[in-house]
Amino acid sequence: MKKYFRLSLVCLLFFFVHIPNFGFSDEESLFTPKIVDSRLVKKMFSYIEKNREKIIKEWIYLTEIPAPSGHEEKRANYMKEQFETAGLDEVFIDSAGNAIGIWKGSGQGKKIIISAHMDTVFQGVWKIKVKREGNRLKAPGIGDDTASLINCLWSIRALKQAGFKPKNTYYFMGTVEEETGFLGMQAFLNATKEKFDMVIALDGDLGKVHYGALGFGGGTIVFRGPGAHTMQSRGVPNPNLAAAKAIEKIYEIELPSEPVEKWTILNIGMIGGGKVRNAVSQESHFTVDLRSIDQGELEKAQEKIRKICQEIAFEEGVELEMQLNSHSKAYQIPGSGKSFLVKTVVDILRFLEIKDIEVDPLGSTEANVGIEKGILSVNLGRTYGWYKHSLREEADIEGLFLAMKQILLLIYCLQ
Ligand SMILES: [Zn+2]
Repeated sequence: MKKYFRLSLVCLLFFFVHIPNFGFSDEESLFTPKIVDSRLVKKMFSYIEKNREKIIKEWIYLTEIPAPSGHEEKRANYMKEQFETAGLDEVFIDSAGNAIGIWKGSGQGKKIIISAHMDTVFQGVWKIKVKREGNRLKAPGIGDDTASLINCLWSIRALKQAGFKPKNTYYFMGTVEEETGFLGMQAFLNATKEKFDMVIALDGDLGKVHYGALGFGGGTIVFRGPGAHTMQSRGVPNPNLAAAKAIEKIYEIELPSEPVEKWTILNIGMIGGGKVRNAVSQESHFTVDLRSIDQGELEKAQEKIRKICQEIAFEEGVELEMQLNSHSKAYQIPGSGKSFLVKTVVDILRFLEIKDIEVDPLGSTEANVGIEKGILSVNLGRTYGWYKHSLREEADIEGLFLAMKQILLLIYCLQ
């Protein structure tokens, strides 16, 4: 507990020294329902309603361009072309492969990234056919995250068509390799000389607002032994037994569910070992997926897992190979949950009558990269979806239009 407070204090100090103009707790929402009566907003909303079928058609078209992580070129070219035709000021594909369209602001505005990822988890899937059934579209990648790319494109078009002139400078991005660890966003933010004020990532279900970076850890654990036929197996070290004992012990680790800032969880999702029934396995392995809101808790749990496996390997006389690391760090900008950005988004979602609004720091999207770099960042949803990361993925059509209105209102509020 003490350590946590000390850490918070350090973060807080760092924060106030480096970003003195953010006093999140006193900040107010930029949204008022009056906004929706403005001519410009009315124009944008009627534009997307008018283009309903066109939007759905393009959503299907883009989904049918396969883009497994690392193979996003076709989609990147498409996004680039669309950014150009929409009339953005500067359009390019960066060295990582991200498609970027800059809409320059009129003056003293902020620099804001709005991103959606182009890649999907479907390695080796090169033929995709979207099915439309009632109010749903069905295809791998239909929601995650193609829906956000469409939201992004049509938001730009609606804003342009309504005559919106931004004060801020917006960087619209279709990113690569989000699914493999936010690599596209990481490469861009590492390379850029620009100073950004906000990152707004579009990913996940509508109604969810993540303002913190969930930490990821775990990895693969392998036990090895000499093996032997069952008949000669008495006393021979058994990697399967070691794995079983280790798994049982790992599940005995107490992980905090409260307070929310320390919430931590783990799962052993894969297990395997041995080749035949009548021999002692020579190799057994399992995976650990570890997640926490608090980096300290994540590392503590990871250390316990390490110790358990070492002890069991010693007791059972088997060799041990561990690949445990934190893939992505848990991080929060103090007070960001009460920032004007989060408050504005929540007001917009309430206005749109979105049920199940969830505001939490459990983000595992490319907004995490911004948060780690101390940039005020949130992740917002794209529509409602089902069976994500599976070949039978489905997405809600109506939700897409609500999510688009969410983005349009947010940009209008931010100016
Ligand atoms: Zn995603």
